[in-house]
Amino acid sequence: MPNQPISGNDLARFAGPGTFMRLPQVESAAGLDVVFVGIPMDHGTSWRSGTRFGPKEVRSESAMIRPYHIQTGAAPFDALDCADIGDVPINTFNLADSIEIITAYYDELLTHDVKPLSIGGDHTITLPVLRSIAKKHGPVALVHVDAHADVNDEMFGEKETHGTVFRRAYEEGLISPEHVWQVGLRGTGYTAEDFTEAQGWGFNCVLAPEIWHKSLTPLAEKIRTSIGPDRPVYVTYDIDSLDPAYAPGTGTPEIGGLTTPQAMEFIRGLRGLNIVGADLVEVSPPYDLTGNTALTAANLMFEILSVLPGVPYR
Ligand code: MN
Ligand code: MN
Repeated sequence: MPNQPISGNDLARFAGPGTFMRLPQVESAAGLDVVFVGIPMDHGTSWRSGTRFGPKEVRSESAMIRPYHIQTGAAPFDALDCADIGDVPINTFNLADSIEIITAYYDELLTHDVKPLSIGGDHTITLPVLRSIAKKHGPVALVHVDAHADVNDEMFGEKETHGTVFRRAYEEGLISPEHVWQVGLRGTGYTAEDFTEAQGWGFNCVLAPEIWHKSLTPLAEKIRTSIGPDRPVYVTYDIDSLDPAYAPGTGTPEIGGLTTPQAMEFIRGLRGLNIVGADLVEVSPPYDLTGNTALTAANLMFEILSVLPGVPYR
C-alpha cells in the first residue's frame, strides 16, 4: 500500500504533521513516485514579498483535502507513492547562492525516479528546477499559467529574478520553445512587444482576454494535441494567473484573471500529458490573511497530482 495522507477521520485536521496533506515526511526521495518539496523564498520578487511563507501556508491549508478526487474519479494515492521531503535549505541572504542550492538539491533528488511537485516561493525557483529537469529529461515542453510571461532580459541588471525565468530557460535550451504554452497573460507592459517577442522564439501565448468567460477544456485539449502524449512536460503554475478576487495573496497581482473553476478545468484537461514535474508559485500569505489563496493553491496542487501519469480513476 503506498503512503496515505492522514485521514481527517483518524486524527483531527488541525493536528498532526505540517506536511502536504499530512503525508509522511521523508529524508530521501528513494522509492517514491512523487515528492512534495517546499522552496521558501521571496528574494527574487520585484514588488510585494512574502512568498517565503508560501510552503508553510499551502501545506497548512492542504490538511482540508481528502484523498479521493470524487469530481473526476482520480485516486492518486491508490497507485502513486507520495511523501513530503520538507524544504530546500536556501540562503535567504543571497539569491544567486539560493539558485545554486536549488539546482544541486534537485540534481540529487532526480537521481531517483521521482516527480517533484514544488511549492514556492517566488517564480525564480522554476529556473534552477528546470536546469535539473532538463539534465534528466532534455528540453521539456512547458505549460506555464501566469498573468506574466516572465521573459524580461534583466531587472536592475540582474539576469535571474522572478521576471526573467523563461527567457533564461529558452536561452539555455531547457525547454522546447514550440512546446511552450503560456496561458493567462495580461496586465500592462514595459514595451509594446512584451507579449509578442517570445512568440518569435516559438512560444504559444494565450492572453487572458482570449479566454475570458470561456471553458478552458478546449484550450487544454489543444495543448495536449500540440505536445503529444510522450514528450516530457513541466507544469509551472503562478497563482497570480487567477484573478486577485480569487487569489489576492500574491506579489504582483493583475486584474482580469482566471476564475477558480477555469483553473481547475484547465488542469483537469492536462490529463494524458507526460508530466515529469510541476510547481505552484507566488503564494504570499501575508497579503491574504483569510488563507483563501493558500487554500486554492493547495487544491490546485492536488489537481496537478490527480492528472499525473499512472493515477488510476475509479
Ligand atoms: Mn510568474
Ligand atoms: Mn505572475
